[in-house]
Amino acid sequence: MAAISNSVQPSRFRVLKKGSRPSGKELGPVVYWMFRDQRVSDNWALIHAFEQANMSNVPVAVAFNLFDQFLGAKARHLGFMLRGLRQVHHVLEETLQIPFFLFRGKAEDTIPNFVREYGASLLVTDFSPLREVLKCKEEICKRVDDSVTVHEVDAHNIVPTWVSSEKLEYGARTIRSKITKRLPQYLIDFPTLQPPIRKWAATTQVTDWDGIIAEVLREGAEVPELRWCEPGEKAGMEVLMGSKNGFLTKRLKSYSTDRNNPLKPGGLSGLSPYLHFGQISAQRCALEARSVRKLYPQAVDAFLEELIVRRELADNFCFYQPHYDSLQGAWEWARKTLLDHACDKREHLYTRDQLEKAQTADPLWNASQLEMVYYGKMHGFMRMYWAKKILEWTKGPEEALEISIYLNNKYEIDGRDPNGYVGCMWSICGIHDQGWKERPVFGKIRYMNYAGCKRKFDVDGYISYVKRLVGDIKKRKAQDLLLSDKAKQICS
Ligand code: FAD
Repeated sequence: MAAISNSVQPSRFRVLKKGSRPSGKELGPVVYWMFRDQRVSDNWALIHAFEQANMSNVPVAVAFNLFDQFLGAKARHLGFMLRGLRQVHHVLEETLQIPFFLFRGKAEDTIPNFVREYGASLLVTDFSPLREVLKCKEEICKRVDDSVTVHEVDAHNIVPTWVSSEKLEYGARTIRSKITKRLPQYLIDFPTLQPPIRKWAATTQVTDWDGIIAEVLREGAEVPELRWCEPGEKAGMEVLMGSKNGFLTKRLKSYSTDRNNPLKPGGLSGLSPYLHFGQISAQRCALEARSVRKLYPQAVDAFLEELIVRRELADNFCFYQPHYDSLQGAWEWARKTLLDHACDKREHLYTRDQLEKAQTADPLWNASQLEMVYYGKMHGFMRMYWAKKILEWTKGPEEALEISIYLNNKYEIDGRDPNGYVGCMWSICGIHDQGWKERPVFGKIRYMNYAGCKRKFDVDGYISYVKRLVGDIKKRKAQDLLLSDKAKQICS
């Protein structure tokens, strides 16, 4: 049984700005600007906002800003996110009587304006190591009044990024013990949410969710929504431990044996969409996994290694390495070896467009690309092969990195995440890895090839599996179009 925390540990949040309240001025409400952790349950940032409000006997409101454009999000991402947020809105207002405000535009404008309009004294936000978010927060801190305090809570990692390490870590080997020694302190049960007694008296907002969702789906239609992946906190918990096909309840047993087999996507947890959008807490996943460790210790240990060590290592990299998405962010040995081999002759050279359309001479690679474009979640094992081949087939490491990040962010439902930047940097620039036997193009970067995959799994079976998957998705799309044409005819 995990220990229960009664309050948010001070090390879980950072004071980004200390407000200076003029003496005699009454404390205003607390605003939680939700960004990365889009859930009500198991959310340290929300718990912190409630706790602070209760201490000062002031109300709380939650605000979310929908950027017009954030890292190229398309219908696939925005649809999933907004449908999840609609549930957050419902639970906050209906169950907890906490108002939820959805803004559109630049958070640098909307959040300070909101804070000012309602005279808030404390702005709480969650944590993301991505530069766009850090920059945005810096600007918000400048724009809110001097009297406003700003707290940033790491609600995404189990051990807060700034606690697990104060520097850029070399790899899993160097961060693992730093994280594990702190787990007794941080991997604890969440306290029960205590919504403030003092209620928000000011006006609330009516949000036209259907209208906004329809608009983002239209604008981002190039990459459509996924059918198989239901958004929201409830759906995330169902994937984790539902009685029908939950990871911990039904699929955990095979995690240690099947997770590297692309023909068995159910061998993985399938949690990355929920973790990325913060619709489930990694800490909740870890607590529940740990509670069934007795049954399948090997599988649980392997899962916790990915969920905690690898995932938190990715945040460490993006937080402490400003060049987390460029060759400049690679270690010296990797940069040198890649540049030494940048002019090596490539057997094939493809453009971004050819790669995006899966027009290479390698049917295995094409299948993985199509799995990502149509299904929206490429199998974890194939992601490594996929990115390494891009290094092999483009003009040099910079271009390979740019293309892989572009495609990953555009099509993966869990893309636009520190894990994605790190996955591409690991595959192409050897970060968190070691040097291997030198060879053309790759230099000392770890190499993967078709023959190696053939030894590991049924390559032809995977290619046929993706072909069927894509065929089914295209068929359903054609049926939908037909139905919507018929509906239009009836209406006109
Ligand atoms: P599970 O094996 O069930 O893992 C559970 C959770 O652990 C994942 O959801 C994830 O949060 C974490 N995790 C697993 N593997 C890794 C890893 N290697 N590094 C960091 N965290 C990990 N992951 C993303 O979340 N978003 C991405 O955009 C992304 N892009 C990638 C690109 C490349 C080129 C590579 C090599 C890896 C990428 N990964 C990415 C990491 C990993 O492939 C996915 O997290 C995993 O496949 C997601 O499926 P799952 O949740 O079913 O995996």
